Amino acid sequence: MSQTKIVLSERDLPTHWYNINADLPAAGIALPPVLHPGTLQPIGPADLAPLFPMALILQEVSTERYIEIPDEVRDIYKLWRPTPLYRAHRWEKALDTPAKIYYKYEGVSPSGSHKPNTAVPQAYYNKQEGVKRITTETGAGQWGSALAFACQTFGIECKVYMVKISYQQKPYRRSLMQSWGATVVASPSTETNAGRAILAQDPDSTGSLGIAISEAVEEAATRDDTKYSLGSVLNHVLMHQTVVGQEVMKQLELAGADWPDIMIGCIGGGSNFAGFAFPFIRENLVGGKKTRFIAVEPTAAPSVTRGVYTYDYGDTAKMTPLVKMHTLGHDFIPAPIHAGGLRYHGMAPLVSALAEAGVIEARAVPQRAIFDAAVSFTRAEGILPAPEPSHAILVAMQEALACRESGESKTIVFNLCGHGHFDLAAYDAYFSGKLEDYEYPEELVKHSLANLPKVE
Ligand SMILES: *Cc1c(COP(=O)(O)O)cnc(C)c1O
Repeated sequence: MSQTKIVLSERDLPTHWYNINADLPAAGIALPPVLHPGTLQPIGPADLAPLFPMALILQEVSTERYIEIPDEVRDIYKLWRPTPLYRAHRWEKALDTPAKIYYKYEGVSPSGSHKPNTAVPQAYYNKQEGVKRITTETGAGQWGSALAFACQTFGIECKVYMVKISYQQKPYRRSLMQSWGATVVASPSTETNAGRAILAQDPDSTGSLGIAISEAVEEAATRDDTKYSLGSVLNHVLMHQTVVGQEVMKQLELAGADWPDIMIGCIGGGSNFAGFAFPFIRENLVGGKKTRFIAVEPTAAPSVTRGVYTYDYGDTAKMTPLVKMHTLGHDFIPAPIHAGGLRYHGMAPLVSALAEAGVIEARAVPQRAIFDAAVSFTRAEGILPAPEPSHAILVAMQEALACRESGESKTIVFNLCGHGHFDLAAYDAYFSGKLEDYEYPEELVKHSLANLPKVE
């Protein structure tokens, strides 16, 4: 039997991030400009300066193919990187498939997901530029805990606006953020104009990522000592995640694996999928490779499969710049019944543009099936996945079962971007038969899209 766990040494940690922006023109793909929320005109670096340190703004617009990772960042990455790649021998057997399944495991980071891959460099560049405080939003708490960890590492104060329903229902990630020294507030809160406006309309609002972003952005924009940090969607965030895919490429080679036929990742804002897939997408764009890339989202928040590719705000209060992306509308509020994560209304502009160009495929899946797949996986492989990567696990399973039908032994690689140890309430709902599938209603998509800004 071939290797099960393919590990790299610290010396193999990537020295650069890969910036896919450099390779889009050769593929005939243009990333539309980012627009000012007031004037609807293209913005420049100065417009973003109240929110982000200049080093990150320059990365956001960079077209350099490789950007060097600072030594201080690589030193912290070494706490958990390089992460293992596994061959799923036991799950292949359980599925009785001739497919060869590999998975990259990002759950070994301090906060249990891929998110510290960007939280650490973001905190680093803020520290370099003298920033004292960082605000952010978090849904279930994955991003908030990653940023809390990173800020603690560099001695920066961290304030997290946490979506209220999660704040109430998921106290453990809140405790984790507090353990790393962060201050956590339930959003909508009375601390910002954006929060107070929502509460005036709906005192019982359970919150959303869009609302929490408005609060965090408002606080950063109105305080000199404070900047804002986003855990997904933006170009520089996706770029920081490419350490994942670069490691996978080395590990597959080390394992003597074939070049992947199919690569699969879940998409909320698009960052783990991008970090995992972009180094391989480059080989499709400019290297003649023919890998299929499948981005998987929930039927409850189907931004790429059911949303529209258009300009929209990143937040509910319309304070962020406008970006062209697949969106369900900035006032999207996910159904409370949805337990699978991946709740953001929009999608990273880079992932959206690649989907629009047909370079990647998107697939929406319902939540009960993702837990079926997660349980099948954990009973064979041992690792308990978070609900988010279970979307990818389900599609890996579907593709492996298709191989069983066709007799093909394709190489399938997916990103297991986080463990599920803080998601046991969702597993509990699944085991007690309380989880229902939910299709986001067509009328609501239409209603939200009617509120989109009109941009030529
Ligand atoms: C945040 C998160 C996601 C969704 O965000 P992306 O930017 O799409 O990666 C998915 N899985 C886990 C474990 C997360 O923490």
